[in-house]
Amino acid sequence: MSETIAAISTAPGEGGIGIVRISGPASLGIMKKLMSGCPEEVEPRHAYWGRVVEDSNNSEAEIIDEAVFLYMQGPASYTGEDMLEIQGHGSNVSLKAILRAVLGSGEDDVRMAEPGEFTKLAFLNGKMDLSQAEAVIDIIQARSDMSLGIAESQREGRLSRTVKDIRSELLDLLAEMAVDIDYPEADLYDDTAETEKIVSSHINRLRWISSEVEDLLDTASIGRIAREGVRAVIVGKPNAGKSSLMNALLGEGRVIVTDVPGTTRDTVEETASIGGIPIVLVDTAGLRDTDDKVEKIGIERTVQAIASSDIVILVFDGSKELDEEDDRVLKYMENFSSDNFIAVINKEDLGTTVTEQMVSTRLPEASVIKTSLVGRGAAEAAKNIRDKINTILELSSVDVREMTIVNNERHVKMLRSAERNLDEAIDMLQSGEPMEVAELSVHYAYNALGKIIGEEVGEEVLDTVFSRFCLGK
Ligand code: GDP
Repeated sequence: MSETIAAISTAPGEGGIGIVRISGPASLGIMKKLMSGCPEEVEPRHAYWGRVVEDSNNSEAEIIDEAVFLYMQGPASYTGEDMLEIQGHGSNVSLKAILRAVLGSGEDDVRMAEPGEFTKLAFLNGKMDLSQAEAVIDIIQARSDMSLGIAESQREGRLSRTVKDIRSELLDLLAEMAVDIDYPEADLYDDTAETEKIVSSHINRLRWISSEVEDLLDTASIGRIAREGVRAVIVGKPNAGKSSLMNALLGEGRVIVTDVPGTTRDTVEETASIGGIPIVLVDTAGLRDTDDKVEKIGIERTVQAIASSDIVILVFDGSKELDEEDDRVLKYMENFSSDNFIAVINKEDLGTTVTEQMVSTRLPEASVIKTSLVGRGAAEAAKNIRDKINTILELSSVDVREMTIVNNERHVKMLRSAERNLDEAIDMLQSGEPMEVAELSVHYAYNALGKIIGEEVGEEVLDTVFSRFCLGK
């Protein structure tokens, strides 16, 4: 590859330092051209301090910045090519001036890098596979400890190893199937019992492999939670304390709390990182009967929010008898399995008219908490609720760095395709179809898994993957 690419790799804005990154055969030439007093012999991976100028051969050249020059010789670099980092001051103006000097250095084929191009090169040069490259962007975009943990373990190759292990089992099986196909006249095919034994052994292995793929797919819900957060929906009649609960969970007063029923007309979304896990809270208009158009829209959204949530938190004013409106909420919620419900009987400080049992008889699987969401009780109530969320979703036992977790939609799609093809192969063998046909499905499964790590993916997939990246990565 004869091109050399360059970009400002640090985030725009003022910063302590800023880095212009270069990859390609012209890297060393650029360093010599731009660093005033650059030694004849540049040692790779050594930090050189010097002035940045447009042309070091011109003693009159204006100084652009002072910087540390770091030359890395391929293949021992991020991209696998020769690379240069010019670490200057974190000023937009000086970094742009350095970049201009790089692009105008007169070295052959130097151009601006495209977003993600450094990482794309790393992938193309075999420094990492595609799932590892995708983890790089996940690390940059991580919004919680949990998503960072998953991304980091993926970058280290945990998912790749699991996928490669499954593929190697498939490859063994494919080899055996090929023998059965290529030598159908062999003795074993004259013997029906023997043939059945072979087919049933293939079926057993396919089942085992399919279950391994399924295990990976099962982790996708954790992956989604890490990426998007736990969707917790707060439901209850007006004035029960929903906004207060949301504030308590968020730890600060972001939602307006008022005494007028029905003021939170729309659903309000807030994201909080709770114990390293992002939680999306949707405060709702409740489920009242109303003729008010705006409120009706809010109610519709409540229904949608409940349907797509991981956790539903129901809030009751425990100081008053359960009324018609509470009943409407309960009736509606009885339609769902209540094992992901947390019922909060609020306003304990004002009295305890509503008992845990009153709620439990209606929603038998729900976790019930009696509490007060104002004053000193709020923090403790919030902690109780967070603990309950972790217990219900079994998040406390998840060690993201020790497990292989799938957190990427593209990977989920490929795993589903692999699973479908494996199940098809099993069905075919079971119904006595020829081995060739089943083998083809196994082959598809093998290819689908390969796409996770970037084997046989087209330019289109690569473009989609790397377009998520920022410039300079
Ligand atoms: P929402 O309409 O369900 O969102 O309810 P809010 O959170 O806006 O609360 C309604 C009113 O009840 C506000 O004045 C809150 O301060 C008050 N409130 C909420 N929780 C408690 C509680 O545990 N004890 C007492 N005494 N008042 C509370």
